[in-house]
Amino acid sequence: MTVEMNVQRALFDEVMVPCYSPMEMIPVKGEGSRVWDQNGKEYIDFAGGIAVSCLGHCHPAMVAALNEQSQKIWHLSNVMTNEPALRLAKKLTDLCFADKVFFANSGAEANEAALKLARRYAADVYGAEKSEIIAFKQGFHGRTFFTVTVGGQEAYSDGFGPKPGDVTHLEYNDVDALRAHISDRTCAIMMEPLQGEGGIIAPTDEFIQTVRELCDKHNALLIFDEVQTGNGRTGEFYAYQGLGITPDILSTAKSLGGGFPIGAMLTTNELAEHLKVGTHGSTYGGNPLACAVAEAVIDVVSEPQTLAGVKEREVLFRTGLEKINAKYQIFSEIRGKGLLLGAALNEKWQGRARDVLVAAGEQGLMVLVAGANVVRFTPSLVISKQDIEQGLEKLDKALASLTN
Ligand SMILES: *Cc1c(COP(=O)(O)O)cnc(C)c1O
Repeated sequence: MTVEMNVQRALFDEVMVPCYSPMEMIPVKGEGSRVWDQNGKEYIDFAGGIAVSCLGHCHPAMVAALNEQSQKIWHLSNVMTNEPALRLAKKLTDLCFADKVFFANSGAEANEAALKLARRYAADVYGAEKSEIIAFKQGFHGRTFFTVTVGGQEAYSDGFGPKPGDVTHLEYNDVDALRAHISDRTCAIMMEPLQGEGGIIAPTDEFIQTVRELCDKHNALLIFDEVQTGNGRTGEFYAYQGLGITPDILSTAKSLGGGFPIGAMLTTNELAEHLKVGTHGSTYGGNPLACAVAEAVIDVVSEPQTLAGVKEREVLFRTGLEKINAKYQIFSEIRGKGLLLGAALNEKWQGRARDVLVAAGEQGLMVLVAGANVVRFTPSLVISKQDIEQGLEKLDKALASLTN
């Protein structure tokens, strides 16, 4: 029996490490794109966690998969394999360029595996000198020490002592800088195919083509961090599939589990060979419960009508946001792809993305920010048209309250 406990927001400050600053309300229930807090107040969810709840909250297919697997077996070590992991790996490799999968529990861990594989491959095939990782400013790859160092925000990686070495940061979309810098010493380029945390920044076609061309020229691997863009978010199953190039390694997490923790690193047979027995591992990676849920998620997301539905919903969001902007003149641009959208604040509203988030919350709408100047929308990929309309009405009211 658990003892009755008064669980309020104030308890956070008492018992939790202060690395987050959560909102006052505490959600206790979710269904589809609706969420309710402790006081019964209803919210429309345009955030989906942070691009995680791709089928909304408590989707019946996910609940069924979790319930079913929870009666069978929850955990095995990697001394054995398990059926859900094998089924999920087979489906993921069928859905993209990859032949092989490594399962982890988060985006950072999937990226950590990607970076270690790139370093190991370069060392095995070309020698120890080939160790440089090129990444991009404002990029985000997770919070382990290697991934946060590769990420392009020093504020996140400074202050923890000596960093993993040989990481270079260049400007995203700067073709000339990349051309000038890359060399045969470059082991890999790691990038997001659409920067999420950095402010919803799309790559130019020229940049994408040049990255691939220069990687080939210098025998460097191309790592796409699709932790945020993957699993249908942009209207393709993986974002690279809409860009006309193929990476060598791809990481995925967030929407993969739809709310259950899982991550994966995907790669080719040729590269996978270099992660021999004992070179890498994870206790929970490939956990049967996580893999069973993820399998149910990707079965729904990979349906052509789900992916087509993302593009339809993008149009509804863009049209609605433009209409709101015509009224309040607060955004300079609506950008992004699929249901990874950013409304960039104009000159007059610089630094006020968080104010919009708070005002939206008061109206019963959950949105996100991406930096101080971009309001971010990453709703469920199957959010209803009615929820989109009603959510946009709430945003309208929130902006009305802010502009008054
Ligand atoms: C969220 C995110 C990560 C980190 O994922 P975690 O599951 O928090 O470790 C890495 N890369 C990108 C692009 C992300 O958006």
